[in-house]
Amino acid sequence: MTKFIFITGGVVSSLGKGIIGASLGKLLRSRGFTVSIQKFDPYINVDPGTMSPFQHGEVFVTDDGAETDLDLGHYERFIDTNFSQLSNVTSGSVYQTVIQKERKGDYLGATVQVIPHITNEIKSRIVKAQKHFNPDFQIIEIGGTIGDIESLPFIEAIRQFKAEQGIGNAINIHCTLLPYLQTSGELKTKPSQHSVTVLRSYGLQPEILVCRTAKPIPKTEKDKLALFCSVAKEAVIECRDMKSIYEVPLALEEQNFAQVVLKLLQIPDRKAELTKWKSLVEKINHPERTIKIAIAGKYTKLSDAYISVVEDVKHDGDADNVKTEIKWINSEECIDAESCKELLKDVSGVIVPGGFGVRGIEGKLNVIRYVRENNVPFLGICLGMQCAVTEFARNVAGLNNANSTEFDENTQYPVVDLMLEQKNVKGYGGTMRLGAYNCTLKKGTKAYGMYGETKISERHRHRYEVNTEYIDTLKKSGLVFSGMSPDGMLAEVIELPNLDWFVACQFHPEFKSRPERPHPLFKGLVDAAIKRNVK
Ligand code: GLN
Repeated sequence: MTKFIFITGGVVSSLGKGIIGASLGKLLRSRGFTVSIQKFDPYINVDPGTMSPFQHGEVFVTDDGAETDLDLGHYERFIDTNFSQLSNVTSGSVYQTVIQKERKGDYLGATVQVIPHITNEIKSRIVKAQKHFNPDFQIIEIGGTIGDIESLPFIEAIRQFKAEQGIGNAINIHCTLLPYLQTSGELKTKPSQHSVTVLRSYGLQPEILVCRTAKPIPKTEKDKLALFCSVAKEAVIECRDMKSIYEVPLALEEQNFAQVVLKLLQIPDRKAELTKWKSLVEKINHPERTIKIAIAGKYTKLSDAYISVVEDVKHDGDADNVKTEIKWINSEECIDAESCKELLKDVSGVIVPGGFGVRGIEGKLNVIRYVRENNVPFLGICLGMQCAVTEFARNVAGLNNANSTEFDENTQYPVVDLMLEQKNVKGYGGTMRLGAYNCTLKKGTKAYGMYGETKISERHRHRYEVNTEYIDTLKKSGLVFSGMSPDGMLAEVIELPNLDWFVACQFHPEFKSRPERPHPLFKGLVDAAIKRNVK
């Protein structure tokens, strides 16, 4: 029987509820339990696919092609389980279903209302995910901050759902912030107390409080929180700021977080197997040396826009006891070879990540030309691969001014073009080539060398692709197509065999990399970068 764990947040937004939920998932997984998650987002967009990365950070793509909140990436990495389109629920998608039903006449005669129609739809999403994954524990994180008007239907739905589950089958973990007052040297509990008061006014009593804090919480303050918020003393958990998010599960384990959860849900505790995770954290905190990997992109002011790439780069050096640091490079500043040389002088490897729109493209092409001509290890992802092909076409294959039709519709050499299946697509929501597709790797290539198998499956999110008409021309000039779709029609991986590591892929490897199982293509880049190791 599945037990349900709801996670709410109070006091401020961006509390790290996702990391706290993912850490709890990790602690339960490490005890051999199965865990699935759901993220409820109160905004009206049907999914985050149409939102700017500047506003909402990365769009995480699941195997089944859902465009989801970036927290799902943390959950997949921590829990090491693939989630699905059932795992992200937005107000927009809930309202869309209810309105569609109303138009079809499903509620004929009834006045369709937030309660019960919207709340029932929210509850049915919980049940659908539960039926699909049938986990021991289902963690459900409600986005936003308690008190927000937007999240009220979700809070009401979980209030009902929790009561319906009966004693010991569903709990609410409330995450808050304890602000530190420098002048008096005190951590303040009042905002947390108030946020629990608001939660209670909606009929929800939290069983556990997880308090974000910059300083250790004195016992007196913990006891005070327990007393005023009506939770057991052992259920006031401190979540101190950490150097790395991978430390959070271990810090929570030390305070018996999972044990408290299990006790409340009436499940006997088991021994946790965290050896591998501990050594990962140890290597992140005490590396033998550090190398820098550059990410040359457009959204460099907001690292959340590339969060999966960032996390994968960070944990992929660990195997070699090397810390991989990121150097952000705004591709618009890469105006020529000189500027690239200056900007890249202290890096051991370069990533050109995915993206949309023409801004910064010529700079990315300059960066790629520089790394190709100077044998700097390089990984191109999605748009990064399209740029690598364009650069090669222009500067090696002699196709002057070759371009992607995304950036120049009238280019003489459209080496990257809209996919056939995309030509008649109208509208923007969920219409790209999305989710997992198979790819066949060519034996003897660098990509194959890292994967060690010919049949792979990776996640996609794009509308454009390498134009098949140019594949032969590019091949003749030395570009190797190391991965193709199984029907041989779509270019999925390219590489230059004479360079140490110059590999680019149409898919997004960052969505499948896991801290305890680095992705072959990131590993290939980091291995080559370690060998190069610019001081
Ligand atoms: N803009 C490109 C496309 O639509 C690349 C997309 C991406 O990098 N995710 O194909």
